[in-house]
Amino acid sequence: MQWTVRLEARTSQGEVTTTELVTFSRPAVVSTLAEVGLVLSDTKALLAKLQASMLCGQVAEYAAHHRACVECGALQPLKDQRTRRLQTLFGTVEVEAPRFKACCCRQPVPMTGVTVSPVCALLSARCTPELERVQAELGARTSFRDGVRILEALLPVSPANHESLRSRTHAVALQLEAADRQAAAEITAVRDEPDKAAAADASRPVVMLDGAYIRAVPGHQVRNFEAICGKVEQEGQPTRRFALVRSVAEQPHALLRAALQDQGWREGDAVTAISDGDPALPALVRSATGGPVEPILDWFHLSMRVQHVEQVMGGLYAVEPPPLAPLDHAQIDVERLRHLLWNGHHEKACEALGRITSWAKDAIVLNEPAMEARAKRLLARCTELRSYIENNKGALIDYGQRYRAGKPISTSRAEGTVNQLVSAHCLA
Ligand SMILES: [Zn+2]
Repeated sequence: MQWTVRLEARTSQGEVTTTELVTFSRPAVVSTLAEVGLVLSDTKALLAKLQASMLCGQVAEYAAHHRACVECGALQPLKDQRTRRLQTLFGTVEVEAPRFKACCCRQPVPMTGVTVSPVCALLSARCTPELERVQAELGARTSFRDGVRILEALLPVSPANHESLRSRTHAVALQLEAADRQAAAEITAVRDEPDKAAAADASRPVVMLDGAYIRAVPGHQVRNFEAICGKVEQEGQPTRRFALVRSVAEQPHALLRAALQDQGWREGDAVTAISDGDPALPALVRSATGGPVEPILDWFHLSMRVQHVEQVMGGLYAVEPPPLAPLDHAQIDVERLRHLLWNGHHEKACEALGRITSWAKDAIVLNEPAMEARAKRLLARCTELRSYIENNKGALIDYGQRYRAGKPISTSRAEGTVNQLVSAHCLA
């Protein structure tokens, strides 16, 4: 049995041409399931022929339309016939790109000796934007080698090596960054107009940053890489999300700066940065703004460490027989910890932690050996929390007050961004 696919093309002048694209044949009586219906190799052949036929016809019509002089309408003489190759998702196509001598009617300066090539002007890149986008999408989600394999398996796309997929992915990434900066520059230009500047919201933008280690695709030069995800929030503006990989982003601070400018931040404005205690994150904000940054230690991360102390304390009371004094005193201080830190009394919290650790040390001596391991764990958790507080002294605030004012106190929403990124990566 045979099937023939014919393509009927109709130009804008109404001329119709029919081209035979492909013929598929199958045995009259098939013997296996594999011989039933259209298969991938047929489809790829069909798509390649269809693309070549459409593209050549369309470009020829384009060239014919542009051959007429824009001034007098006369046909410009043909100088020579060249060809151009265009890479598409459906194969590389060679199209005719005639060059014309510019019409001599143009005044006051006759353009004698000038040639025009409308097709070359149209085909400004070697590949279609669609191919570039699909390659970049695959390059961002899988290894470059796998990206090439997937494309070649499914589509009649011209063979590419992983190097070209890599460079195309990077080119698209740079375009995205440039577009971000451009958009930010336009917004800044609008805001610099005096009347608009006066109307700008005086409230300070909040940057929420969070880092995550993400497993790299197999075969990548490193096993893990650190991604920084964040959000910029400003009252009256839609939230702006961003993500970057510090080790490969050429200008990580430029990306953040663009995100801030997009949210209405202006040079010299103070910025609030909420992060988990990694000093590199507020430093990134400082290098992006070059101005004052108010760092805030994320309440979620602080609260988690308090919870560790509370849990170990609870575990101490779960053993039989219950511990002897002085752990009862420690229990009271553990119960106060969260309240003290929430209300910005971090020095009192450190004093309480000091008392808990000294009672825990006594408890190790006074109680049964069974208690010893647990009391040591309490000691370790308290020491951990205390150094976390001391290392982040400049970033501790009265969380309760800020919370009651309706302002964010946690990057947990930035963590949502990290989780989205991680799960998108795992699903890909
Ligand atoms: Zn003319």
